[in-house]
Amino acid sequence: MVPSRETPLVELEGISKHFGEGETRVDALRDVSLSVQSGEVVALLGPSGSGKTTLLNVIGCIVKPNAGRLRIDGAQVYADQWLKRDLRRLRLEKIGFIFQFHNLLPFLNVTDNVAVVLDLAGNDLPDARRRAVELLDYLEVGHRRNAMPSQLSGGEAQRVAIARALANRPRIILADEPTAALDSKRAGIVMDLLRKLASEQDACIIAVTHDEKIFDRFDLIFHLRDGRLDAQAPVQEDMT
Ligand code: ADP
Ligand code: MG
Repeated sequence: MVPSRETPLVELEGISKHFGEGETRVDALRDVSLSVQSGEVVALLGPSGSGKTTLLNVIGCIVKPNAGRLRIDGAQVYADQWLKRDLRRLRLEKIGFIFQFHNLLPFLNVTDNVAVVLDLAGNDLPDARRRAVELLDYLEVGHRRNAMPSQLSGGEAQRVAIARALANRPRIILADEPTAALDSKRAGIVMDLLRKLASEQDACIIAVTHDEKIFDRFDLIFHLRDGRLDAQAPVQEDMT
């Protein structure tokens, strides 16, 4: 048999999403097709209101599209309707979200902010805490494991949030402006970390960003405009 191209981790075909009807209808995504392989680090660019967050939420199975097809890790998840009954489990197993602001739970310390996700997925608490500390060490915030979120710097809090997003070893990592709250040095460190993860854990990263200082960290850049996705342009090759 001829070896086939690797199955994409994320595959969208003709995805459309609108909010509202009639006069108030907003077409947030129009006929969007996109395919991302494991190991790829992808940027989503576009002006405010162009559909970036909606696209991440569709890929994360949080927002239901109106038309098109969505495959996650080779499995058809949406084709004119949801095809999986347990979307929550799918998200827990396959998808990690990193938000612009870290959304840490203020009443749990750093370790438990990460461990809580593993606890939800059915691990017992001592195991969950062990894995949490391992991850925090990997992200170089292990020394802050007993701190409360309010005691962390912006960069530390974002790395804890990343540890939490990675706790279940998701292969699809969705990030909505993950470096917006960081200075450019910290932003570079966070992006390098995400790149390392993608290659070491056979994952893909899809990140919304405005941050021109980190554009060189991406393999592919997609542009959204009025809900339409422009053809991708390679990052370096075109910049002659
Ligand atoms: P971006 O992240 O690129 O700023 P969004 O995906 O948040 O854009 O929004 C795309 C469009 O869809 C915008 O016009 C926005 O107002 C609209 N929109 C997003 N979410 C909702 C919602 N829950 N209800 C109504 N309109 C929405
Ligand atoms: Mg947005």
